[in-house]
Amino acid sequence: MLKILDNVLLKDFTTMRVGGLAKHFLVIKSLADLREAFSFVKTRKLPLLVLGGGSNTLISDHGFLGLVIKNEIKGIKFVDKNQAEVILEVGAGENLDEVIALSVIRKLSGLENLSGIPGTVGGAVVQNAGAYGAEIGNSIVSVSGLNSTNGKEFTFKTGDCQFTYRSSFFKNNKKYIITTVSFVLNKKAVTNVAYVGLKEVLANEKELTAEKVRNAVLKIRGEKLPDWHKVGTAGSYFKNPVISQAVLAKIKSEFPLVPNFPEPNNKVKIPLAWILDNICHLKGYKEGKVGLYEKQPLILVNLGGATFTEIINFANKIKKIVKEKTDIEIVEEVEKII
Ligand SMILES: Cc1cc2nc3c(=O)[nH]c(=O)nc-3n(C[C@H](O)[C@H](O)[C@H](O)COP(=O)(O)OP(=O)(O)OC[C@H]3O[C@@H](n4cnc5c(N)ncnc54)[C@H](O)[C@@H]3O)c2cc1C
Repeated sequence: MLKILDNVLLKDFTTMRVGGLAKHFLVIKSLADLREAFSFVKTRKLPLLVLGGGSNTLISDHGFLGLVIKNEIKGIKFVDKNQAEVILEVGAGENLDEVIALSVIRKLSGLENLSGIPGTVGGAVVQNAGAYGAEIGNSIVSVSGLNSTNGKEFTFKTGDCQFTYRSSFFKNNKKYIITTVSFVLNKKAVTNVAYVGLKEVLANEKELTAEKVRNAVLKIRGEKLPDWHKVGTAGSYFKNPVISQAVLAKIKSEFPLVPNFPEPNNKVKIPLAWILDNICHLKGYKEGKVGLYEKQPLILVNLGGATFTEIINFANKIKKIVKEKTDIEIVEEVEKII
């Protein structure tokens, strides 16, 4: 019999440190636990919310009037696939960075660019978490779990996961609860250092390894990002805008140095941090208990005790300024639970 708790403060389970009470709260460690959670909500006709590390989630001060399950389904298995590759099968409740560290120790490459991203493997799949020129979807073979409406098991091959920039099938279909994720990793160091900042740090390395790339990524992150153990944050609060060539041309006419990177369908991605810094002059901007991090303005920080409403109001103000200055409508990367 599982121990379902009542009235649990959710701000303690999100890195943004925001969120009211969960009516019910349960830590799950197995598929059987998950099935019990399903029957609990079904009997009581309650909504269900899954949390991994809570590092991309902004929960309302009113909390959640249903059952919140914190996924702690663990398990890490490396299976030899062939001479060149290994399959890594992981419980979705594993900490992503710990999994990457273990892979790198085994000299397996594929996930090292994602080093240092907080949260669980399951949460990273939902978000198609990415950093330094890589996205988690690039290394995935399959994603398995349970459908919360009928309890049936599912397994999706990577092509069915609809991975796009910070999105996936699972982000838009909340009934699919991820329990296991399989990755394919390379035995040889197949490294990806196309990202400019990363290339610079590794410029003097003659032979690249997954470990060297991981260390470089952790170094850059340590210099640029706040430590979420000390400061309330969910990392990048907004997505980088993906715009048409016509909109880019308009911005370029006024700001010729705007960086831009090609995207599918003849679109381009612009680093929002650059816009916030160079066009809107908002780096380090603060209002009350909320601000944009002084070293990386894409990161919104809870300076201590900010409420959900204060954060939303601040974010809306930033959106308005960007729209006024560039005509671009920016959208949240963080998931709001209202
Ligand atoms: C300091 C900092 C730096 C960051 N840097 C990056 C970065 O470089 N790149 C990046 O992409 N992100 C970054 N993030 C954001 C965040 O860490 C990632 O998006 C992370 O992958 C989220 O994982 P999580 O387990 O914390 O997800 P959560 O916030 O717990 O959940 C995110 C969403 O996924 C759903 N979910 C979680 N687990 C499951 C599951 N098992 N099954 C179904 N749905 C599930 C939740 O319901 C929610 O909708 C950063 C965050 C912080 C605080």
